[in-house]
Amino acid sequence: MNRETDVLVVGGGATGVGVARDLAMRGVDVTLCERGGLGSGTTGRSHGVLHSGARYAESDAEGARECIAENRVVKGIAGACVRDSGGYFVALDGDDPDYFEAKLEGCRAQDIPAEPMSGAAAREAVPALADDVERVIRVPDAVVYPSRLVAATAESARRHGARVLPDAPVTDLHTENGRVVGATVDHDGGETVRTNHVVNAAGAWAGRIAEKAGVEVSMQPTKGVMVAIEGVEVDPVLNRCRSPADGDLVVPHDDEVVLGTTSVAVDDPDEYSREDEAVDRMVAECAAMVPALANREPDRTYWGVRPLYAPDEDERGGARSISRGFFLLDHADDGVGGFSSIVGGKLTTHRRMAEAVADHVCDALGVDGTCRTADEPLPGHDDPAELDDLVGEYVTDSPADSDLRD
Ligand SMILES: Cc1cc2nc3c(=O)[nH]c(=O)nc-3n(C[C@H](O)[C@H](O)[C@H](O)COP(=O)(O)OP(=O)(O)OC[C@H]3O[C@@H](n4cnc5c(N)ncnc54)[C@H](O)[C@@H]3O)c2cc1C
Repeated sequence: MNRETDVLVVGGGATGVGVARDLAMRGVDVTLCERGGLGSGTTGRSHGVLHSGARYAESDAEGARECIAENRVVKGIAGACVRDSGGYFVALDGDDPDYFEAKLEGCRAQDIPAEPMSGAAAREAVPALADDVERVIRVPDAVVYPSRLVAATAESARRHGARVLPDAPVTDLHTENGRVVGATVDHDGGETVRTNHVVNAAGAWAGRIAEKAGVEVSMQPTKGVMVAIEGVEVDPVLNRCRSPADGDLVVPHDDEVVLGTTSVAVDDPDEYSREDEAVDRMVAECAAMVPALANREPDRTYWGVRPLYAPDEDERGGARSISRGFFLLDHADDGVGGFSSIVGGKLTTHRRMAEAVADHVCDALGVDGTCRTADEPLPGHDDPAELDDLVGEYVTDSPADSDLRD
């Protein structure tokens, strides 16, 4: 079958559905193709922390400011996709006091509400905390349910006229006279889609999509493990207040906590080893903050792969410190028109990433439209039952919040 669309978005994670929504709201005819269920890539395999920016406050002022702005936006437009848990940065006896002060100062400088508390006050609020918690900083971190967020964003795109196709892998891109002009999609017996612009929002797989148009996008995916343990009660997101390291995060869910994570470079975002040793290490490290976790067997584990863009790796020294910021690449700069890639970033900042892409594509297509995605609430934003129906329609694999559906 042959179809036409103004813009084809490849990838139905948070970024891709965000792009489809934004463009559709500006009146652009858009088709989104995702190879599996929506959110089945990294989006459904993250911790699901809606960062306040405090995690980056002392090291990356711009990233921190972006997070606090988007934290407020997502809470505003997607209420029932979020558990507004709050977050603690937890300093244990022996942790570097200068780091604590730098974090607090960084939060204040970036307009992130941050309140220091004594260890005793923190333990009174969260009895599961260890006796040697010396002090904490309370910040507005929250938990976001990726399956709900992705399904509601896709539904908003659809209601604004987008065609949203799960189970529709893009198997080829077609070029003519130095431009991408279409794609082959393995959907409904096979489709050829003619288009004016392709947005590559395939996350850790973006390099493979770019290759189909003869363009190189250097991704350096890194894997991370998450470990879910039931029956340990923690209300806020707990971050260890030290330089980012393995096992410094405890994320509260309904009847489990999710511990994470690691960051190890992988060659292939689909095929990589999953070591038991990393799981044991998560449990042991996080038990320093929450002793009830010590020696617990995980109830389930899952792994995700970060969509990190590689060029600055060498300068910054190692995979963990590759920028968490995002990059919008216009491949006209590589000699291929009608083709852009959006790589890097975070779940927290997906809407801002989508806005940048939509601004760029509208410029390229000569469309005059302003972004409204930060103001208009998502379908089902105040109705968990409606959101769960939407999840049933669009999402098949999202271990990050599968406890919502069990
Ligand atoms: C371990 C871990 C923990 C994280 N924790 C957090 C966190 O707590 N908070 C936070 O803000 N961020 C977190 N992140 C980062 C965040 O999850 C990602 O940056 C974000 O989800 C990426 O979204 P995306 O849409 O760009 O990519 P993805 O969600 O991966 O979407 C890309 C999609 O493209 C699809 N695709 C691939 N090939 C094709 C094809 N040929 N045709 C069609 N579709 C294709 C894939 O199936 C995939 O669904 C974490 C990441 C990891 C790995």
